Amino acid sequence: MRAMVLREICEIKVEGKTQQREGITIKTEPLELVDLPVPKPGPKDIVIKVSACGVCRTELDQIEGRILPPKLPIILGHQPVGAVANLGTSTTRFRIGDRAGATWIYSSCGKCKFCQSGEENLCEQFQGTGCHANGGYAEYIVIPEDYAQIIPDKLIDFTYVAPLMCSGVIGYRSLKLTGMEDGKTLGLYGFGSAHHLVIQMANYLFPGSKKFVITRNPAQKQLAKNLGADWVGGIEEKTPEKLDCAIDSTPVWKPTIFALENLEKGGRLVINLIRKEETDKEFLLKLDYPKHLWLEKEIKTVANVTRRDGEEFLALAAQAQIKPQIKSFKLEESNKALIELKSGRSPGSKVLRISSDK
Ligand SMILES: [Zn+2]
Ligand SMILES: [Zn+2]
Repeated sequence: MRAMVLREICEIKVEGKTQQREGITIKTEPLELVDLPVPKPGPKDIVIKVSACGVCRTELDQIEGRILPPKLPIILGHQPVGAVANLGTSTTRFRIGDRAGATWIYSSCGKCKFCQSGEENLCEQFQGTGCHANGGYAEYIVIPEDYAQIIPDKLIDFTYVAPLMCSGVIGYRSLKLTGMEDGKTLGLYGFGSAHHLVIQMANYLFPGSKKFVITRNPAQKQLAKNLGADWVGGIEEKTPEKLDCAIDSTPVWKPTIFALENLEKGGRLVINLIRKEETDKEFLLKLDYPKHLWLEKEIKTVANVTRRDGEEFLALAAQAQIKPQIKSFKLEESNKALIELKSGRSPGSKVLRISSDK
């Protein structure tokens, strides 16, 4: 099978966004196209013939070493969807041809207090798809059936389903963690792949709420307006009303501080990111306790996803017909997709279209 592999940590070359780091090569093609045997399932695994796989910011973090893959080379990608092509001898949930996909959670221990209480996202032995095990930038992927998601039939086209598997599921978890209710105001800092889906969820779940989008990217501003944002502004702007709930999905610190300033008393800011970049860390020194944190403001982060998040969100996506705006690339164009993602040129989600199966 054809697959794109990461062999070494490097810096992706993008005009104006490339930092020279000691001992790190700068590359325009961080991933390499290789031919590998189709993976075989263990007793409790399924093999999916990947139709499409979403491209996520986490891949940039992995390639550039902010999240170190435990082993190299590795096939990245944690949003693969397609049809089941092979089954382990002890599998029970799937049949050949079933529509299935993976999310960021590849496996967890199943025994610790977190796993026992449905918070497997916090398990010490949490394993990430395309991180601890080979991911979906490939024609086939093997995953444990217990951690695979069933794709509802109502979500017809795999190309549009792929970005739901991370951007959608983690966006859903972030929204849940804000404590959002109908009528409360919601602020979204950054408007990448996750937030352009979050606003669609919020429109459906909280029709009586005002949604404010904060981004400096003109294409993202336009998309936010098209998707029904009540107001769109820049990072340093005051939102028209204080935010009861906010999510920060930006890779830097400045928006976090401004989000706290706009937060309502008793409001909650959820940071949806695995790693913040270090570039503007000194901005945190502007944190002013009375202005930014006092009066019972809360900050919470979101880490990973659970299987339940996936199930709940896919059901919601089917019901609300949540549809990403996508730009698709061929498997061998993965590097191009990653460069575009890093440059921030096009809004919405990027998807690798790996086979023509629907
Ligand atoms: Zn992701
Ligand atoms: Zn566990």
